[in-house]
Amino acid sequence: MDRLFSGMQPTQDAHLGNWLGAIRNWVALQDRYECLFSVVDLHALTAPYDPAQMPVRVLDLAAAFVACGVDPAKSTVFVQSAVPEHAELAWLLSCHTGLGALERMTQFKDKSGQHPDNVNAGLLFYPVLMAADILAYRAKAVPVGEDQVQHLELAREIVRKFNRAFGETFPEPQPILPKGAARRILGLDGNAKMSKSRGNAVALVDPPEEVRRLVGGAFTDPQKLRRNDPGRPEVCNVFTLHGFFTEPARISAIEKDCRSGALGCVDCKRELAEGMIRGLAPIRERYAAVRADEKSLRAVLHAGAERARGIARETLSLVRERMGLVEGGRKA
Ligand code: ATP
Ligand code: MG
Repeated sequence: MDRLFSGMQPTQDAHLGNWLGAIRNWVALQDRYECLFSVVDLHALTAPYDPAQMPVRVLDLAAAFVACGVDPAKSTVFVQSAVPEHAELAWLLSCHTGLGALERMTQFKDKSGQHPDNVNAGLLFYPVLMAADILAYRAKAVPVGEDQVQHLELAREIVRKFNRAFGETFPEPQPILPKGAARRILGLDGNAKMSKSRGNAVALVDPPEEVRRLVGGAFTDPQKLRRNDPGRPEVCNVFTLHGFFTEPARISAIEKDCRSGALGCVDCKRELAEGMIRGLAPIRERYAAVRADEKSLRAVLHAGAERARGIARETLSLVRERMGLVEGGRKA
């Protein structure tokens, strides 16, 4: 089986975009690939964070993976910082990554705009660490949302450069994207992508009253000002979200009634919130059970790190040899 890697940052609770754009695909691909899924805590250091909260967030996110259907018996679930080879490989790869390419990355530009007083080098370096995450396992497939496609293109560029310089070492990793709107779920602002760091997200574990409050505040078609104004479902993010939580027959009726003005945005959002609450209920329930059993969760992560480390160590030993970093390892 080909190997597959994907990661998620323990910045905030996983949200609808993370699930529809990434985790749902992870779950579906578990039987077809040898999968590694990582809580990428080293990536999360690039944004302001509370060190006391980090270990809690790591367990929260690992529990969310399992609650969504990632099966630790099939897939390797681990924390990035438990495998130091990621950081080492990132350095080695950085010497084969153009500075200009890093500066052109959309995520770097977005995030430096989000916290202009904390434009750290880690933010710029992020795609190199991501390439290392994937290449440490010589993974061929990477299920991600559309926002990560550019980083994967860069990872492939790094691979080509590396293989040319040192001989065929890594395969070129390919993204696996979900179909349709799930590639890029918009936030409740209906404008930017749903993001943990933007505060425009519905978390998978938000309680029902919070889901109602958040969806109630979601932006709809800006031209539909009054209840009976005709709306345009094709520009409305609430309508797009119905696509994931509402029966197809009911979606057609919503579309028709929105266009005619028979359905107002308030009612439309109420219905979406209830559908979302129902759709997320199984995840929320499993999450509560998985998260409550910290001992088992830690055991999963521990075993996962051992397995991951075994593979990454092998890759790094090959990479060091190819790059001529052998002297320190020679016997006297
Ligand atoms: P942050 O704002 O801290 O970067 P995030 O919400 O972007 O957080 P990440 O941990 O960076 O989440 O991304 C994890 C995975 O979720 C990636 O594969 C990414 O492509 C996917 N993803 C994130 N947001 C969305 C979205 N809005 N739609 C589809 N996929 C998404
Ligand atoms: Mg992100």
